[in-house]
Amino acid sequence: MNRIFFHEVVTRDGFQNESHFVPTDAKVALVDDLAACGFAKVEVTSFTSARAIPMLRDAEEVMGRIRRMPNVEYAALVPNGRGAERAIDARVDELNFVLSVSETHNRANVRATRQESFARLKEVVGLAAGQVPVNVSLSTAFGCPMEGQVPLEEVLRWVARCAELGVRGFTICDTTGMANPRQVARTSAALQRLVGDFQITMHFHNTRGMGLANLVAAADEGVVRFDGSLGGLGGCPYAPGASGNICSEDAVHMLEEMGYDTGVNLERLLGVARTLPQLVGHEVQGQLVLAGRWSDLHQAPRFLAGTLSHCQ
Ligand code: ZN
Repeated sequence: MNRIFFHEVVTRDGFQNESHFVPTDAKVALVDDLAACGFAKVEVTSFTSARAIPMLRDAEEVMGRIRRMPNVEYAALVPNGRGAERAIDARVDELNFVLSVSETHNRANVRATRQESFARLKEVVGLAAGQVPVNVSLSTAFGCPMEGQVPLEEVLRWVARCAELGVRGFTICDTTGMANPRQVARTSAALQRLVGDFQITMHFHNTRGMGLANLVAAADEGVVRFDGSLGGLGGCPYAPGASGNICSEDAVHMLEEMGYDTGVNLERLLGVARTLPQLVGHEVQGQLVLAGRWSDLHQAPRFLAGTLSHCQ
């Protein structure tokens, strides 16, 4: 059976877009619950300034209080050397550094040119050397909400530059849901050729309803690592109206039904997903939590007059 490694990013990518602070206790409990579901990786938090992202101001405390499961990697986002030092002190298993392929998005997202970001990445890799692996997330790799098209050559050029620094892997991000399945297939094939020995993760947003189709396109090309967010939480402040990441429980259900082994206990994950609306104070976008698994069958209706519905 083909193994897929699923990464849960709700407590970082998901929560950073929420307006109401999620208490530290609840974050710790959620990370522990998600790890127990069997995710290969959990992106726990971000070691950024409390002013930039107040939601994640408790990064040290969360990392310090979670129960570390042996088969789960606990990753964290680091925007610079200072963040890397903090994350290394907190015994993070992987440092995740974000660089946008689009110059305009990078300036908006991290207030730096791509060249400046690259210099920061170099510093992060230097600090982490021999201690913690570094992953580079390339944002807006399939399109930029401000610049429009992002050429594949440009994505590959940044991948090649970062690969030379000695990073462990790449997360190719469709930050605002602009990718389509054919584009994803082309990109996935080109990446396997260029950096097939590295960990390659695809990070899709379902902004325009193409998230799961994009996942299948990448999996068909042999990509085995995917990010997702509980309840499809997430978004991007530079693309107003943009919805979140692909929903983990929906994606895991689809992959399992297709014959992949995700290692995730779906029953357990659905239990965790049901607690999310109360935690964030609003409804979320997961479909499975509403409809149940396909194998959760319903009783046949009694054919009483007036119950026709003409479902199609
Ligand atoms: Zn995202």
